[in-house]
Amino acid sequence: MNTFKIDIIPCLNDNYSYILSIDKDALVIDPAEVGPIINFLEKNNLNLKYILNTHHHFDHVGGNLELKKKYKALIAGSERDKERIPGIDIFLNEDEKFYFNQYEFEIINVPGHTSECIAYYIKSENAIFTGDAVFSLGCGRLFEGSPKQMWHSICKIKSLPDNTLIYCGHEYTASNAKFVQSINDNEQIKLKIIRIKELREKNIPTIPTTIAEEKELNIFFQADQDNIKDLLSNRNISDEEAFTRIRSAKDAF
Ligand code: ZN
Ligand code: FE
Repeated sequence: MNTFKIDIIPCLNDNYSYILSIDKDALVIDPAEVGPIINFLEKNNLNLKYILNTHHHFDHVGGNLELKKKYKALIAGSERDKERIPGIDIFLNEDEKFYFNQYEFEIINVPGHTSECIAYYIKSENAIFTGDAVFSLGCGRLFEGSPKQMWHSICKIKSLPDNTLIYCGHEYTASNAKFVQSINDNEQIKLKIIRIKELREKNIPTIPTTIAEEKELNIFFQADQDNIKDLLSNRNISDEEAFTRIRSAKDAF
């Protein structure tokens, strides 16, 4: 068989953890809590081998130690964040690869939300796991990094193929859409808001999104566009200045 599967596991209020499996081997990305993860593993008879973290926040590492103990799983995260990732065993750096059986995960540094956020990119599956660096229609709050760092992180993500699926750390799409609309109201965002509402009423995740869709709708991805700069100020401001203004407006929204 050898099929690669990605399952979305809702945790806490609005977090998403992800269970990736190849036949009976599994890994979890950002276990926010243990209950829903253990339920899924047991229901599907999966053997947890690895825990991967995108950053150190509690709502992404909350299940680390208990899952490590129960399954004897190994924990991987950014080497630069080894003091803050509970139970870390495998130290990853930018451009290094992590292997899950024959599947290759590329490590991309995406600082901004925290200074050491990383994303996991699986080229063969057209998928990237971004944690709280970017969300559908949004990006993470800047707790540790600068707007300049975050804009550069977004540019790295934006440069991936359009059909790349983005799996992010939270279901924030509905509130992010309202913010986008407050600055750049148009037909596409109106339609998107209707689609989001339909999904959320049935409790279906709006995730994954794609690079193409984020380029089209996510205002944080559009800080280099003249039409967006005009809405914020005028088209002569730099991309970084435009991004800074969008981020501050979101923080106050
Ligand atoms: Zn976070
Ligand atoms: Fe988070």
